[in-house]
Amino acid sequence: MRCSKRKCNNPAIIYQNYSGLHFCEAHFVEDVERKAKKEMRKQLMVERGDKIAVALSGGKDSAALLYMLKRIFHNRNDLEFFAIAVDEGIKGFRAITLRNAEKVAEELNVAFFLFSFEHEFGFTLDEIVAKGFEQAPCTFCGVLRRKILDIKAKELGATKVAIGHNLDDEVQTILINYIRGDVERLGRLRGRREEFVPRIKPLRGVPEEEVALYALVAGIPVNNVYCPYASLSFRFTVKKMLNEFERRHPGTRYSLMRGYEKLSEFLPTQGGRKLLRCEICGEVSASGMCKACEIIGRMK
Ligand code: SF4
Ligand code: ZN
Repeated sequence: MRCSKRKCNNPAIIYQNYSGLHFCEAHFVEDVERKAKKEMRKQLMVERGDKIAVALSGGKDSAALLYMLKRIFHNRNDLEFFAIAVDEGIKGFRAITLRNAEKVAEELNVAFFLFSFEHEFGFTLDEIVAKGFEQAPCTFCGVLRRKILDIKAKELGATKVAIGHNLDDEVQTILINYIRGDVERLGRLRGRREEFVPRIKPLRGVPEEEVALYALVAGIPVNNVYCPYASLSFRFTVKKMLNEFERRHPGTRYSLMRGYEKLSEFLPTQGGRKLLRCEICGEVSASGMCKACEIIGRMK
């Protein structure tokens, strides 16, 4: 098949089911970057003088994000990028992806900062899991990783934290909150978070398989190892369901995203809800004790 772009006769490397278009390598890269730029403009993600901490896990999404940001903004001397990685302590998995993260940061010439659960909290995720709590490992993992990212990004002087979430991740999160009936959290997905370093997600309009292909085309080193705990999460069930929907009804992900964006204008954001401080660590939180300190308390 040939590229669908006018006047381009190059062989296509991808067919987009949802748009009905074929793209050659150059036009595919252009299309992915166009989607990211549009998202960044729409949400004013990158501003003059920003110092952006990219959360780098070593997986394809965050590596592709760092590569793309460096590429798109290569002549913006006012911007600064660096990478933050978190070692949750997951045997047989994280050490491999962290080596990759370091390699990616080095190749892209950005400073690399590594922090660990073990050092910051005194225990690893594997040790939390060994306690046999009823919640899935991802629940603990997500809360504690966010905590480290927030604190360290602030300490390192970042004005934004960039996260590699793609379209699939975003739509899964939306659907998870719908299913749980968590309207408050649905609203919070959009609003800027007061007092925290704002988060940006430039890839939130790019489907997962396209981020993977983008990384491949760019020659970014990625390794195909998967977290042993991923399949235990609710997200995993939702992901499988969404993939099936998308396969049978191409465009489902985009229509869910568009529907959510229209709806979210009517949802309450943080406004009106008073932010408290955690009595233990002093960080802003929704209640008197933040989720991270609650977990730390349970581990004692
Ligand atoms: Fe953590 Fe879950 Fe991601 Fe594994 S899949 S790294 S447990 S959030
Ligand atoms: Zn083309």
